[in-house]
Amino acid sequence: MKDIHDNCGVFGIFSDAPCVLDIYQGIDFLQHRGQEYCGIAVFGDHIRQVTHHGKVSTSFTDKDIEYLTGSRGIGHVSLWERQPMTWQSKLGEISVAFSGNVMNAEKLINQMKRKGQAFYRSYNTELIAKIIMEAPDIVSGLTDLTRKIKGAYSLVALTADGIYAARDIYGFRPLILGRDENRFVVCSESRALQNMEMEVVRDVRPGEIVLINGKGFQTMKQVRSPRRAHCAFEWAYTASIDSVIDGLSVQGARNSLGQSLAQRDIDEGDTRIDVVAPVPMSGIGHALGYHQRSGLPYQEVFLYNRYADRSYTQSTQAAREKMAKRKLSVLRYAVEGKRILICDDSIVRGTQILNKVRDLKKAGAKEVHVRIACPPLMYPCDFGISTRSREELAARHFFKSGDIGSLKKQRELEVWIAKEIDADSVKYNSVESFVKALGIPKKDLCLKCFDGVCPFKEEKKSSLLDRKR
Ligand code: SF4
Repeated sequence: MKDIHDNCGVFGIFSDAPCVLDIYQGIDFLQHRGQEYCGIAVFGDHIRQVTHHGKVSTSFTDKDIEYLTGSRGIGHVSLWERQPMTWQSKLGEISVAFSGNVMNAEKLINQMKRKGQAFYRSYNTELIAKIIMEAPDIVSGLTDLTRKIKGAYSLVALTADGIYAARDIYGFRPLILGRDENRFVVCSESRALQNMEMEVVRDVRPGEIVLINGKGFQTMKQVRSPRRAHCAFEWAYTASIDSVIDGLSVQGARNSLGQSLAQRDIDEGDTRIDVVAPVPMSGIGHALGYHQRSGLPYQEVFLYNRYADRSYTQSTQAAREKMAKRKLSVLRYAVEGKRILICDDSIVRGTQILNKVRDLKKAGAKEVHVRIACPPLMYPCDFGISTRSREELAARHFFKSGDIGSLKKQRELEVWIAKEIDADSVKYNSVESFVKALGIPKKDLCLKCFDGVCPFKEEKKSSLLDRKR
């Protein structure tokens, strides 16, 4: 099984004025979705493109900004590859950027190679663009993607007609439209729109193909969506706390997940705690929710170094560990002699939470209890989030073969993992309590990294059942 996949953010704009600074600002607001590469393509008299290895704010130069002339364009931030990519084709110039992962990329690329297509680097983006460019027009090409690609994508394509935006038929990755008087925008998360003082219009629907030009947003085609499979991890971790995804506020979702953890402790009479604290930054919403439901005091116990990158999106283990150490320091005065309960979004390998528990105990904490908003991570993600290989996942070391299956088994895991990370207790939300807290029907969510159920296979199963009926 492959180890790591893309983790990206996309942005597209049609404006009545030069747009490069808007794109720069837009992708800067999406930087949390990937920090290794960034890129911008604009359409003036032709497409001009600049990509960098690095973050938006430290990579683009004055010369780049001067060079990127045009009033429509797209931008991208990524953990794994340089995008956008631009081609000359029978459909004219086209530049494509996407967020997601193509699971059957190797098979499709081999098929296309046998038909004489050449690939520069066999990137997912290249495959997507070539499928589009083989078609008689862009909308047919984007429609072909929905048939040919097994996986997840939210994409933007810059052409002479305007910007095309498309979301896969399951709606794994977010994509949202916004506008003001002079600008029409599509992007991965609503935070970019809010911070650019634009009005949020709506989410792009799963299977929808939208053209953005001077007339605004036009739905060019709506491909049938067999079911929704929005990535549940977006609300728990990936998305920014100030975003609203598919109608659900990220902050509200995290609060609710924290409240669910607190309710379990209340029900189990497990409330001998002095302080509730977040693991910054993604644990903040969860800890606030825990505090609200339990009424226990909320207190920061870690000082966040805002100049360090998020360790999750570093591309090597060594870089992640080094960054994790730089990221948080303990506020000794807040922890000495106290029973601390810390909230975080998930446990991946367990090394980071182990270090935090040890740091708190070294600073004098009497007890450290850990509460995790997501259910145990049991499977890697195939749809564009880097949740690591199966062997690297901490919960998999306990459940070497087989799944959690029951709450009793989850509790056995919690006892085991508490010992592994030196904590006095560990509790996760179960899949059921997690879904209930989000308030989105289970059938509309992807939960594959928790329960191993692939939305495609579920779809096949239900179609077969439908036919039998
Ligand atoms: S497998 Fe997990 S991380 Fe990947 S899309 Fe599904 S819920 Fe999100």
